[in-house]
Amino acid sequence: MIKFLDLQQINARHRDALIQKSTELIDSGWYIQGKMVTDFEQELAAYIGTKHAVGVANGLDALILILRACLQLGYLKPGDEVLVPANTYIASILAISENGLVPVLVEPDPGTYNISCVELQKSITSGTKAILNVHLYGRASWSEELEDLLERHKLLCIEDNAQAIGAHFGARKTGNLGLASGFSFYPGKNLGCLGDGGAVTTNDDELARMVRVLGNYGSQKKYQNLVKGVNSRLDELQAGYLSVKLPFLDAENEVRRNIARRYINGITNPKIHLPEIPVDGSEHVWHLFVVRTKERSKLQEYLLEKGIQTMIHYPIPPHKQEAYSEWNELSFPLTESIHEEVLSLPMSHILTDLEVETIIGAVNSF
Ligand SMILES: *Cc1c(COP(=O)(O)O)cnc(C)c1O
Repeated sequence: MIKFLDLQQINARHRDALIQKSTELIDSGWYIQGKMVTDFEQELAAYIGTKHAVGVANGLDALILILRACLQLGYLKPGDEVLVPANTYIASILAISENGLVPVLVEPDPGTYNISCVELQKSITSGTKAILNVHLYGRASWSEELEDLLERHKLLCIEDNAQAIGAHFGARKTGNLGLASGFSFYPGKNLGCLGDGGAVTTNDDELARMVRVLGNYGSQKKYQNLVKGVNSRLDELQAGYLSVKLPFLDAENEVRRNIARRYINGITNPKIHLPEIPVDGSEHVWHLFVVRTKERSKLQEYLLEKGIQTMIHYPIPPHKQEAYSEWNELSFPLTESIHEEVLSLPMSHILTDLEVETIIGAVNSF
């Protein structure tokens, strides 16, 4: 069986170093907000190229805390409209509604699956104050057109970089394109820990400070609470694990790019619509390799019979979810067809050449 993602194998490569970190932590006697978190925050900021990185409990909290900090600092006010791609993972949207802001869903570009500038332009009203820009599937969502649009309409740009750590647009990495960016270190992400983890990167001193304060009970100094905060801290042990894995990320993303290239060159079945390799100066890190076909469930079954596990990212669009019943009657045709047709092929840096060949052969013989 070729697994969609073999997390055991991925982490087995780091087994000794991870055990070493665990031992270090046990022996340190300091288990929350210690040196491992501080070290990882510095490593992440240096890697992304931002002034600040703040560890938080998970990727959803990263986005929630960025927006809450924006409210707290007066960058946004309750009821402001935030544009967000309609085909994103629901976490991006939850972070907006959780803060009493208004998510405005925008159709993606059919070539990139990222938010479309043409559609964005149509959705801007006098109440629009920000965009939550998602680098979906690992592809940087950025363009000069987008930059222009942000400037012309004075919109804040918050990045959801949960799927795209290591991607870049020109010389700038995703996570260093907007005002602030949320990261997830969920085990299946390109940089995954062995539990939950997340972070916020930003060049804004006030925002970095406020995210840190909000995630620590609203407190900067122990037992002095400046604002009504929550408990959302990056776990010390997970930070230690992330420091072990971060130095390998670029090489692993390069392997993903090679596999994507082989899929794109090798898959010739006319029933399968392939993703594009960016040619706009942006770099893809292929968190997911998503193909589209009108015969999605047949393809998924066929591949499974051949011993190949695939996944659907995602089967139901956010506006059709029960959680957002107020949107169930809205129509986003492109987003809906994407959710009906997408299938994610196995993608990770530990896939062997033979496995990649087997997958290409099976997709072609479908
Ligand atoms: C994974 C993910 C998140 C949430 O991350 P968690 O760590 O699971 O909370 C947010 N946005 C996107 C696009 C994601 O893929």
